[in-house]
Amino acid sequence: MTEPPWWHLAQSGEMDRRAEALEALLSPCRLCPRACGALRDSGQLGVCRTGPEPAFASAAPHFGEEPPLSGTLLPRPPGLGNVFFTGCNLACLACQNASISQGPTPGAFRGTHALADACVALQDRGCHAIGFVSPTHQAPGILRALAEAGRKGLRIPVVWNSNAWETLEMLRVLDGIVDVYLPDLKYADDASARLCSGVDGYVATARSAILEMARQVGVRPVLDERGLLRRGLLIRLLVLPNGLAGVEDSLAWIASELGTGVALSVMSQYWPAHRAAEEPLLSRSLHRLEWDRVLDRLDALGFEHGWVQPFEDDAAACYRPDFDDPAGPFPDAADWGDGSDVFAPPGGGRRRP
Ligand code: SF4
Repeated sequence: MTEPPWWHLAQSGEMDRRAEALEALLSPCRLCPRACGALRDSGQLGVCRTGPEPAFASAAPHFGEEPPLSGTLLPRPPGLGNVFFTGCNLACLACQNASISQGPTPGAFRGTHALADACVALQDRGCHAIGFVSPTHQAPGILRALAEAGRKGLRIPVVWNSNAWETLEMLRVLDGIVDVYLPDLKYADDASARLCSGVDGYVATARSAILEMARQVGVRPVLDERGLLRRGLLIRLLVLPNGLAGVEDSLAWIASELGTGVALSVMSQYWPAHRAAEEPLLSRSLHRLEWDRVLDRLDALGFEHGWVQPFEDDAAACYRPDFDDPAGPFPDAADWGDGSDVFAPPGGGRRRP
């Protein structure tokens, strides 16, 4: 097995030095763009409800991510080894993971050693990569855990699955550590971000973050012979009702700034979870017309490859996590197929279902 670049940083001690650099941002905390100033070293919880140590609710293989992340090999794909962290630096009214992100998580696993061991265990279960889900506010502990896991035999790629509400200072420390960036680009206007996620200035911050990610890992995805993503950027766009996510505008921005070779994942799985009923614009699922408009924009802009969730097959129900299920939060997640029915591979012609 060829070790990913982060493994060499772990062996040389550079990973620990990077962790130190991030730990220096913890008190008063300015690790994320909120800069809420919590004294996390003293045990204060920030807006993200997180102290100094890493804490996670689940570590399990995920077979329902996009095909190059979960794999499509038969009889059983390798799965992405997802670690779901507790807390979050956003406060989304419709958070799908609210049971672990928006309040106390009594059964959470805590500490660097627990995280390092969980990563090694996922590799032992056959996962081809580790997926850190909502990692931003726990970045220092993650780097400490990776250094330890590297010494314990972990040597698979790292996927950084974030909400893109991240500072350039933090992201630059991750240069050479993250193999695959998997950001959600959640909004195209700040008013929607304020209404739905309780933050100011999301758009410029998230777009800058994604440009930095692209600088680090490149725009075009690098797949191995099994079709698994080894390096690159995959941008997720969840379509919200009433145009709140502004996906059509985000697509235009991506095409303009990164080109049409970047891989996309356009998602239909929205449902009014958590506190969405409090906001009338968020309180229903998508209409077909809203979804079709986004697909039409994809066609018009000519993106070359990526994946689109099905609209009709109750994708929303399929992706509702249950963090109390011992089999993992998504035991019934659907296989998205090989994606070729929606987006063609690079250089190929495109088909629509
Ligand atoms: S990471 Fe958490 S504690 Fe730090 S600034 Fe962001 S919300 Fe506040």
